[in-house]
Amino acid sequence: MASVSGVRGVVGKSLTPELLAKYSSAFGNLCNFFSQNAHPKVVLGRDSRASGEMCRVAVLSGLLATGCEVIDLGICPTPTLQIAVEGLAADGGIIITASHNPIQWNGLKFIGSNGMFLSEREAEKLFDLVKNNKIIYQPWSGLGKVKTDHSWIQKHIQKIFKLKYIDVKKIKRKKLKVVLDCCNGAGGTISPGLLRALGCQVIELYCNPDGNFAHNPEPLPENLVSLCRAVKKNKADIGFANDPDVDRLAMVSDLGIPLGEEATLALATKFILSKKPKSKVVTNISTSRMIDDIVQKHDSKVYRTKVGEAHVVRELKAVKGIIGGEGNGGVILPELHYGRDALVGMALILEYLAESKKTITDLASDLPKYFMIKKKGKLTKYFEGNLAKLKRKYMKSRKRFGIPNGFSGEKINLIDGVRIDFEDSWIHVRKSNTEPIFRIIAEAKSEKKAKGLVAESLKILGAN
Ligand code: MG
Repeated sequence: MASVSGVRGVVGKSLTPELLAKYSSAFGNLCNFFSQNAHPKVVLGRDSRASGEMCRVAVLSGLLATGCEVIDLGICPTPTLQIAVEGLAADGGIIITASHNPIQWNGLKFIGSNGMFLSEREAEKLFDLVKNNKIIYQPWSGLGKVKTDHSWIQKHIQKIFKLKYIDVKKIKRKKLKVVLDCCNGAGGTISPGLLRALGCQVIELYCNPDGNFAHNPEPLPENLVSLCRAVKKNKADIGFANDPDVDRLAMVSDLGIPLGEEATLALATKFILSKKPKSKVVTNISTSRMIDDIVQKHDSKVYRTKVGEAHVVRELKAVKGIIGGEGNGGVILPELHYGRDALVGMALILEYLAESKKTITDLASDLPKYFMIKKKGKLTKYFEGNLAKLKRKYMKSRKRFGIPNGFSGEKINLIDGVRIDFEDSWIHVRKSNTEPIFRIIAEAKSEKKAKGLVAESLKILGAN
């Protein structure tokens, strides 16, 4: 799977050393094209997956063969690597990760010289080099070099503490008790340290970055059972879950109840807008309407993009947004850097707890109430046709979903699959960027209605 989110595959099947080296060499060529340096400077890092070392060697080989000077950060989060690319004024970066995908997967995320994901156009250029065998390799005298640098974990933490929104002393005084589930991903290298530096008593759950994922690493409620149990048992103030490359954050309340990924960006946005109303917020079209309600209350404006960090950050930069991200738990605070970052997410939530003097249960129950249902299905060759059918049907049958007569406010958005907005509900169907599946999301004021929308759509898509 190659997309604006990078390259992903199953190790030993679609993801081979040859393929990894090819993509890395193409990336080396791309960096060389834009670089002022004789040898383009490329930052390399990986999450903790067991296949990470095989991939690292292949990627390194591809980069050295195209003359890159490689700075190897070792195991680190995606946001740490993005910050290092900016901090080192590098020409680009590659992080070896399959993000939240299960252990048999791995992949590459490509970062440009601005520390941001490659744009769609840049990614296309990269894929074209691979597809059409246009890669240029260096002779023996032009090969690159590699050095290691383990300083960026600490630099990342310090950068967060310097943000004007974060009052380290105030958080420290609260002495919060936190259970942390890193699923033995890269979060183990940084998250316990960040929380302890904020005076938290940290109960570590799977914080050993050895890549033996203790559960399905996607931070969805059904995968956080042991975190919920540990929060309750330890009477903690909050539970945090990081995905393997630490760009997504999910939370469990002090009562041991998962708050759902959508709550992360909603709470972080509410906190930031309470400090700076009349601002701009950017999120993708799959994200909860909670954001629209919060934004409206704070006299602000929301901009919606296609799904994928690359799209959100570009719009954030273009409109000079104050905060943005994705409903899957990805918080982007441009003041820190243009990338989803679970670490800044945790710091903002702890600051919110410290300032509001409320529990996380209270903060979450103050959020606008919606029910969201997310499902996925296998792509078939009939998918596009069925999607067109679904679009036609929903535009005609709004009455069936309890939309009042005379309401003509349903809107249709086709930038990324099909999203249809009704008065008090919406549905979005799109192809995944990272897996051969389609995703379907519905949100409504009642669970029954959200479920009804999903069931109906799955029937039309021929996938139930
Ligand atoms: Mg991730």
